[in-house]
Amino acid sequence: MNRALPEAIAAIFQQVKARNPGEDEFHQAVKEVIESLGPVLVKYPEFAEHKIIERICEPERQIIFRVPWQDDRGEVQINRGFRVEFNSALGPYKGGLRFHPSVYLGIVKFLGFEQVFKNALTGMPIGGGKGGADFDPKGRSEGEIMRFCQSFMTELHRHIGEYTDVPAGDIGVGGREIGYLFGQYKRLTNRYESGVLTGKGIGWGGSLVRTEATGYGAVYFVREMLKVRRDSLEGKICVVSGSGNVAIYTMEKLAEMGAKVIACSDSQGVVIDEQGIDLDLVKQIKEVERRRIADYATRRQGARYLPGGNIWSVPCQVAMPSATQNEINGKDARTLVRNGCIAVAEGANMPTTPEGIRVFVDAGIAFGPGKAANAGGVATSALEMQQNASRDSWTFEFTERKLDSIMTGIHAATWETAEEFGAPGNYVVGANITGFIRVARAMLALGLI
Ligand code: GLU
Repeated sequence: MNRALPEAIAAIFQQVKARNPGEDEFHQAVKEVIESLGPVLVKYPEFAEHKIIERICEPERQIIFRVPWQDDRGEVQINRGFRVEFNSALGPYKGGLRFHPSVYLGIVKFLGFEQVFKNALTGMPIGGGKGGADFDPKGRSEGEIMRFCQSFMTELHRHIGEYTDVPAGDIGVGGREIGYLFGQYKRLTNRYESGVLTGKGIGWGGSLVRTEATGYGAVYFVREMLKVRRDSLEGKICVVSGSGNVAIYTMEKLAEMGAKVIACSDSQGVVIDEQGIDLDLVKQIKEVERRRIADYATRRQGARYLPGGNIWSVPCQVAMPSATQNEINGKDARTLVRNGCIAVAEGANMPTTPEGIRVFVDAGIAFGPGKAANAGGVATSALEMQQNASRDSWTFEFTERKLDSIMTGIHAATWETAEEFGAPGNYVVGANITGFIRVARAMLALGLI
């Protein structure tokens, strides 16, 4: 029976591929999770009997819609909007919206699938979903962004709600966009339903620490991974890809913990600053002026800019991919290991390719997969929902302590599960199995739904 199980899982994967043609990122995300599940089916044969894996791989609902809007020249533009409501066994669908030209169903499904397990790992009552549009916010005016968000919500509003589905931000969707989306939801429904979206501004239902949460949480996760190796972040040389919300607050917390971040990037190039990245300058360029990271090198003495450069060739001890999917391939992973990297934690979703993951795991370095390492963002969204539900707002310190304990708990749970299932130190296995079991148990309890 034991030997037959991987075959059963391989058959499920073939089915997923056949039913979802052309969705490469979704296939990749599914494969990575279900590859870990052989030993789970041995221990819990009821999961196989009730076809939990097959059911988990099929979203509960997929919504695809037209988003028409007018640009500043008066020209009509049409984008495609998505919301994939993947799994609601543990709570309302929860997950961000991504606005990026690369968005198509396969990207939204990979993100939604990851979100199901990530959200389960937080231990909070949230299911998994994801959405977005193939809209490119780059170079768009404030007015265009607002009109796009309003049109997007004009359709989305009928599918979401504080007990149904609670979107938030992701790439291309930050506080500004959440504001426009929330305003349109409020207008259409005539309800001040704070809990329908998270990542809101402070003063109109948002939570302190939500902005910082993904980055801070990822650094707490690294701190915990190093702690079990009797090491710490103090004095470590770090590289953080990206320069968006996740990267910025990853760099902030790394510096606070005594580490030195010497490089960050955007899709056009890499900035290297051996004195340590000046975060105020990055925030000014990215959060205030919304410009490219290349500006950093022109404004800061001693910094270098490598147009089109590869950030993973910069030698470091800790690497935190915080930009986008598949940004570290096998070759990059080998370079990092060769250069003495001891820990990698994924701030982005699925930034490491399957080959890259194999390289890290085989090298025995501390590797924190996104589902675990970047769960602090969505966990703090759930804290925002709690505050909205009780019409309360908590202090920064109180909320940050909660985030820290959630991340410490995720580390402990994934570590222990990896050990229990015969893969000590392997957080990929630990995260996949812990998240899966929590969702699977709830699905069993709720009957055939
Ligand atoms: N987009 C974020 C993630 O990947 C946050 C989702 C949320 O806060 O709902 O987890």
